[in-house]
Amino acid sequence: MRSAGCRCDVCPFAKDGKPDRYVLASGSKTEPSGVVVLGDGPSKEGVKVGEVLHPGSQTGEEFTALLAEAGIVRDDLLIVPAWACVKPELTKDVDERAAVEACRPLVDFQLKDVPKDTPVLLMGKWATRSVDGREKGLFSTRGFRDDKWRLGDERRKEKEDDSD
Ligand code: SF4
Repeated sequence: MRSAGCRCDVCPFAKDGKPDRYVLASGSKTEPSGVVVLGDGPSKEGVKVGEVLHPGSQTGEEFTALLAEAGIVRDDLLIVPAWACVKPELTKDVDERAAVEACRPLVDFQLKDVPKDTPVLLMGKWATRSVDGREKGLFSTRGFRDDKWRLGDERRKEKEDDSD
């Protein structure tokens, strides 16, 4: 994780500054069939089987049912968590926000071989924040990732201003 650039040392979901009970991306890494799915972090059930959006959680159950209805094979997708480690039972938005920031390099790393014009399904505000840097409503968020793997022009401008 650290070799990917993660900031586990400042992540609220780390244990003693190291990843704890984590899940990496699953599915087709270089040729996902049509779409990448970016979800929240893994559930406790998902960690046991090493899978994000595992049917053991409510979200995973709904996701799995939708895939079945649409006739999509899970292994044909690339499913990536916005952060890798299971979060504690009681967390606040501030913790999840910090985990998204700390774990973003791992998201980038896991997507580096995916063609840049591959659509990405963002499963919630943390997934949106992971790619966009802002917390926006899903209905107002759409676009393509650019070379820096960000959607928003505003975020890109902020980064360019920072580097001046
Ligand atoms: S969620 Fe990511 S940044 Fe946080 S401890 Fe786990 S691997 Fe490190």
